[in-house]
Parts: sequence; structure tokens; C-alpha cells
Amino acid sequence: MSAANFRPQPRQMLKRLRDVMAGPGSAQHRLEQVVKVIAADMVAEVCSVYIKRAGDMLELFATEGLKPEAVHQTRLRVGEGLVGDIGAHARALALADAQAHPQFAYRPETGEEAYASLMGVPILRSGRVLGVLVVQNKTRRQYAEEEIEHLETIAMVLAELVATGELIKPAEMLATEGNAMLPSRLEGVRINGGLGIGHAVLHQRRVIIRKVVAEDADEEILRFRAALAGMQSAIDQMIDAVDREGEHRDILETYRMFAEDRGWIGRIAEAIKTGLTAEAAVQKVQNDTRARMAQVTDAYLRERLLDLDDLAARLLQHLSGDVDLLVEMPPSDAILIARSMGPAELLDYDRTTLRALVLEEGSATSHVAIVARALDIPVVGRVSGILAKVESGDQIIVDGDNGLVMVRPGDDVMEHFATAIVARQQRQESFAAMRHLPATTVDGTDVSLLLNAGMLADLSHVDETGAAGVGLYRTEIPFMIRSAYPDLASQIDIYQRVLDRVGGRPVVFRTLDVGGDKRLPYFSYDDDENPAMGWRAIRISVDRPAMLRQQLRGMIRAAAGRPLSIMFPMVSEVAELDIALAVLRLEVAREEARGGAVPAPLSVGVMIEVPSLCWQIDQVLQRVDFLSVGSNDLMQFLFASDRGSPTMADRFDTLAPAMLKLLHMLAHKANQAGKPITVCGEMAGRPLEAMTLLALGYRRLSMNPAAIGPVKTMVRSLDIAAISPYVCGLLEATDHSLRQKLRSLARDHGVLT
Ligand code: PEP
Ligand code: MG
Repeated sequence: MSAANFRPQPRQMLKRLRDVMAGPGSAQHRLEQVVKVIAADMVAEVCSVYIKRAGDMLELFATEGLKPEAVHQTRLRVGEGLVGDIGAHARALALADAQAHPQFAYRPETGEEAYASLMGVPILRSGRVLGVLVVQNKTRRQYAEEEIEHLETIAMVLAELVATGELIKPAEMLATEGNAMLPSRLEGVRINGGLGIGHAVLHQRRVIIRKVVAEDADEEILRFRAALAGMQSAIDQMIDAVDREGEHRDILETYRMFAEDRGWIGRIAEAIKTGLTAEAAVQKVQNDTRARMAQVTDAYLRERLLDLDDLAARLLQHLSGDVDLLVEMPPSDAILIARSMGPAELLDYDRTTLRALVLEEGSATSHVAIVARALDIPVVGRVSGILAKVESGDQIIVDGDNGLVMVRPGDDVMEHFATAIVARQQRQESFAAMRHLPATTVDGTDVSLLLNAGMLADLSHVDETGAAGVGLYRTEIPFMIRSAYPDLASQIDIYQRVLDRVGGRPVVFRTLDVGGDKRLPYFSYDDDENPAMGWRAIRISVDRPAMLRQQLRGMIRAAAGRPLSIMFPMVSEVAELDIALAVLRLEVAREEARGGAVPAPLSVGVMIEVPSLCWQIDQVLQRVDFLSVGSNDLMQFLFASDRGSPTMADRFDTLAPAMLKLLHMLAHKANQAGKPITVCGEMAGRPLEAMTLLALGYRRLSMNPAAIGPVKTMVRSLDIAAISPYVCGLLEATDHSLRQKLRSLARDHGVLT
């Protein structure tokens, strides 16, 4: 048979491999037989196996076709050459002209110059690269997709041989990096603030697959179906067990939707039909998901792939019958470390023992982040390589505020953070004690401190913090955690519960701000090159007025005659606002016509987030009852500086003269018109920034619950009249940032920032 008409015969091949692997001789000898069998099966002149040694070296362990003297001599660093590239990215490569590839690294001792094409796949086990399996052909051969699949299946079988520990010592395969015992400080991104000290619990499901090749595919399919049903009903039970009202339930329901994904189930069934056991098939599909994940940059798609990855782990446990192994017994101060995690998994842990969560992956918009925030657990995400640097039981400090993780910290660092935690607790207690005190300045100015919220769980903070109300209710959050678009009845239900929970205090509902990185799982978007500046928020609402009408109708009905405040996000021009206002008028008229109670009063506002609207502010003020400055977006568009980019995070400062001058102008105009103006971006929750905003004329600030206490402390120590002239005098400065000057000002005036 020639290479050109090669068709993989997975089942026979796996049987042959199994016979060789179970045969006599040393592991090295069996590996040498294995490469011969694979080369013959794949109609390739070369088949080589590289195995990863300590220090991230891939060593040639066996070859059919390359020079035998290269065995145990040729070594490539992970990342070096094509083999190293496959190892580094855990993904397959298939090249008709391998030597033309920029990554090709020539090793004269192997004699591989004679071979034109190359196909290689990682040898993976439990998500780790153990080695690389490669075939090569003399002629330029275009390897087909099914050949890559076939080689991946073979690599799964090989992984078992490597994992026996007969080829290299198990200690060399340990995940932990060489200098495991040294302290290290790792940087990630802040997902949820707060401090946590405790001992590492590695969230890894260690289901060891003992059998890769199946005797009977039909029987494996039956086992797979039974495990799948078991897993689905376990998720159902979890759903039944959670609070009937809570959003956890919605998140789990979305998760269940993935557990019923036909494409995913179909791919596993296909892999079983090639001769793998059900466990090996699930792991093969999980490997594919992970390889895709490494390449996908779209935040939404990554989250969905993470959910699938998580489900695969769950399914493996149901297959192994080891469902209790789900959770390692955590210590009483657990710092949970995971590559990624689904929302359901976090809920598996006992909240009372959890001190913090650290993720290798993860973003602020992931489901697990939303749940962690509702449970008030500090989270740091995107901590690269944490699982390889931490051993179970290691002492860990998590600084969620600064996106930092300290592994095995020294005594001095421990002491510093232990003190910081105690101080933080004391501060929180003193903030809680302050909740009944008015947010009034030394010179007698009342300030409204409001909450930003998005989940029902957030609303409990209104009482805890003594906030004056909810200054920003992000309605997209309840939409994002549902598996289907909420119909009118569900929307009424959501808004009613919010109003009821806040008990008479004002709530500002912001209409849907989806698009950008806030995607709804059931809504299709065209891919904008710059999603933050693309089809999002009010732009979607004016193009899809039926959606906006339904949302406004839901809010009006939920208010049922009570006061209601609505605001529109990301408005760029008055004409756009006019469309939204017209839709709102229609809905009010509709409610009147059906004899319903119209909200009284109904206040309408607009968010100032796009600089163009600042030049139409007089006309805007004639049309609305209040303004709210979304300083997060306003800053990113004013400075053309992506708010989500870690490299841009510290480049420009919100306390820059240009930003403050604009904020001053907005406050001045709104105050002149007698219309309330709030700042609801992150800066409102930082004491020094909040002090500056008050000096510029703002009297309403909306922020995260944890910020209310510190900002109230600042307010109660501030004499606005004493600092305002100086702050306003700084606006013509040309400094990069006024932070230093404002800090000195605060210090000189005894303002507690
Ligand atoms: C803002 O942009 O400042 C804002 C409050 O809205 P979001 O953070 O939801 O975009
Ligand atoms: Mg915004």
C-alpha cells in the first residue's frame, strides 16, 4: 500500500499495539517494537518517540528510520524545533515540507534531512505533555485530518507505556518545577479583590486511566451512556439543591445545556468506535478541547471550551465510579488552585473553608468568577504555570486586589500579610459599624454612596453597607448567566425581585450592555475587529428595538406604579438617545393603554461613556432626568487605551488633567441644569479618586460593596470647600497624572484616603 491511499484502521492497529505493549522484554525494548509497528501502520519511513525529561527536555527514546545512534543522544528543549513546538503547545503539526518551516531545527546526528514531510502529536496524560510522537516521509505527503486523529489515538496508548514509569523515573515526570521548594511570587489578573492565606488544594481530578484499548466497543458505548446519564442526573440534583431564587441555579442550568451537547457526545462516541475505552475516548476529546483552547482568543468561546473541559473531567469520574474522589479533603484554610474551573465545581467545595481561588485560566466574565464574586471569595486569574509550581499543602497567599499569588512565602512576607488580613478584617468591621452613619462631609455636604450590582446575591450588600441604593444595576449579568433569552415573564420576575430586595431605596436599571466581551450564549454576533467599539449596548438596542421594548416593558411592569429609574449605556449621540427615548415612550403608552400602573416617578438617564456625547451635553440634559458617568469606558475611549489590556493598565491615569477637566465640565453642566450626576465606574470606589470627584462637583458615587466603607471614611474626613479651589486649579496642568499632588493635598488636609 502506498502512502497516498493509506486509510487508518484504528481498531486493528490498537490491538496490535496492545499485544506488543503487553509482550515480553524491557519497556525500552517494547517501545522499539512499538515504533516499528506504528511506522508500518502509518506507511511512514520514520516513526520516533521523544519523551520529556526533567528540565523540559524532549529526548529521542526510540526510532524506526532515523539513525539508531541518535537514540538517547538527540535532545530538544520544549519549544525548540518542530518536536519542541508540538510539546510546547500540546498540539498536532502536519507539514508536507517540514524543512521549510521556520521552527525546523536540523540535528545532523539523526539523518532526518532525507525526509520531507512530518506529522507529530503530543503524548498527553491528564492534560500534561509526556512526550511527542512523530512520523516522517521521504516524499512530500499531505497528511489527512483522519491520519492526525489516528496518530493522536495511538499517542494515547503510548502515554500509558510512558506513565508506567519504566522508561523514565516517575520523579522526572512530576509536574512541579525543579526549584519547587523556593518561594515564588506569581502575577496574574485581579478577578475578585480581597486577601486569603491558606494551604494549597490542587483542583485536579486524578482519574488514572488504566485501560486504553477496549475489548468490545458496544459494551464501552453502553458504559459511556450510563456514565453520561449519571453525570446529567448529578447536575440535576445539584440544581435542585441550590436556592430556588439564586443565580447559581441559572448558571448550573447553562452548564447542563453543555452536558447535553450533541456534538461533544458524538465525538466521544466516535472515539470509542475506533477501539478506545470510554475513559480514553473522553480523555482524547478532552485533549482536543484543550488544544483548541490554547489557540482560541475569543473570550466567550474560551469560556465554553472550559465548560466542556470541566464536564469531561466530571464524566471521567462517573466512568471510573469514583465520584467521591471529586473533591480532595480540603484543609480548613483552603486556597483552591485550578487550571480552570466550572461554576458547579466551585459550589462543590465547602464555602466556609475556602480562603481564595487561583486559576491558570479564567477571566472576570467567566461563570466561575461571577459565582466567586457572589460568594465573596478573592480570585486571581491567568496565573501562568501555577499548577506546575505548587504542591498540595503548600502555604499560599492570595492578594486578589493586586492580582498576586505568593507561593511558600518567607516568614517576613507571611507576617506582613497576616497583619494585613487582620487589619482588613478590623477595617471591615469598623465599616460595618459605620453603616448607619451618614455620608456627610466635614463641611456638611451630603454624599450619596450607591452600589453597583448585577446579581441578586449582590443586593444583600445594600443593608450590610448601608448604601443609599443601587446606582448601577447591570441587567446584562442575569442575561449572561442564563441558558436562554429570558422571556417577558422572567424579566419581570428578575426586576421585581431586585426592587423588592432593595426595599424602597432607589435602583437605577441600566438597559442591556451586551456585546464586546459580554456575550450572551444564545445570541449571535458578527465578529467585530474591536468589539469594545463595535456592535454593543445601545447600538444593539436601536437595531433590535423589539428586545429593548421587551426589556423596558419588563421594568415598567415590575415597578407596578413604584418609582423606576432607567438608563441607557454607551450612547454616542443625541439622535441615538432620541430613538431609545421614543421606544420608552411607546412602552409607557402601551402600559397606560392596557390599564396598568405607570411608574411614578419614571426617571430616565444616560451614561456618559463615549466622548462624542460630551459635546452635546446641553441637548442631552434637556432630554433626561439624570446622568451617570461610566468612567471605565469614558477613560478607554478618551485615551484610546483598552481597559482590558494588561499592558495598558498602568499607562494612563484617570487622575490625568484631561480626564479630570472633562469630568469637571460634565459635573458643572449637570449641576447648572439641576440634574443629578453620578460616577459609576471603578474610580468612584477609590477614596483618592472619590475625593477628587467631590472636589469637582460630584455628589453621587456608585461602587462595589467593598468600597463603600473606605469611601465613607474619606467623605466623613473631608472638607470639600477647603480642597476644591486647589483641585480645580490643577486642571490646566500638563502633568501625566495629578495623583501625587492629590495625595499630598489629602495628607495636608487630613483626608482619610
Ligand atoms: C463604565 O464603563 O464605567 C461602566 C460603569 O460600565 P461597565 O463597566 O459595565 O462597562
Ligand atoms: Mg461601560
